[in-house]
Amino acid sequence: MKIILATGNLHKKRELSKIFAPHTVLTPDDLGLSFSFKERGKSYLENALGKAHALFSLVREPVLADDSGLSVPALGGEPGIYSARYGNSNITGQSGRGVGFSDKQRNEYLLSRLKGKEKREAFYVCCMVLLIGEYRFFIAQETLHGLIAEKPEGTGGFGYDPIFLLPDRGKTVASLSEEEKNLISHRGKAGMHIRTIIDKLDI
Ligand code: IMP
Repeated sequence: MKIILATGNLHKKRELSKIFAPHTVLTPDDLGLSFSFKERGKSYLENALGKAHALFSLVREPVLADDSGLSVPALGGEPGIYSARYGNSNITGQSGRGVGFSDKQRNEYLLSRLKGKEKREAFYVCCMVLLIGEYRFFIAQETLHGLIAEKPEGTGGFGYDPIFLLPDRGKTVASLSEEEKNLISHRGKAGMHIRTIIDKLDI
């Protein structure tokens, strides 16, 4: 089955392609389509559903959309649904194309916000929507819990992975292989639930 992923984020595409193989995951770019979506929702679910519907109205084929982010309870849940644009003065930028800060600068900004704070718990959230018809969709939302490290470590993954520490492994998500990350991550777990549904679908 061909699944069109509502993102321009190639890291997400790589992670999800592995989970969904042998199904083919394509991005709008792969199809020569220009797709952008302004996230206006108040939850991961609203944003993921919005992205899925927006792309479906363009392609009229099964689409997969995810909205994800990092929450730090000691910072009142920041950056949460604004993770892709955290630290920018203009947080209404487009999904996946955060204006202003690079990932590295965003990580430095988050570390500076946590300076002197004892509680460093954090969790990733991923809400994933598979939309196969205007009134037919499936949702999975998953989490990965950990701590914010004192300093960045590792070169894999993307976004906040270099500062997201897994205390039971003593390393950051950026130090895991893609396969290891997929087994435990918020996106990997949500993807596996959706994968199970896809394999049972009558299409
Ligand atoms: P969106 O889902 O495209 O709106 O953006 C999610 C943002 O949350 C990303 O740009 C990252 O900053 C962060 N994020 C979500 N999932 C991950 C992950 O697996 N690793 C690192 N950062 C992530």
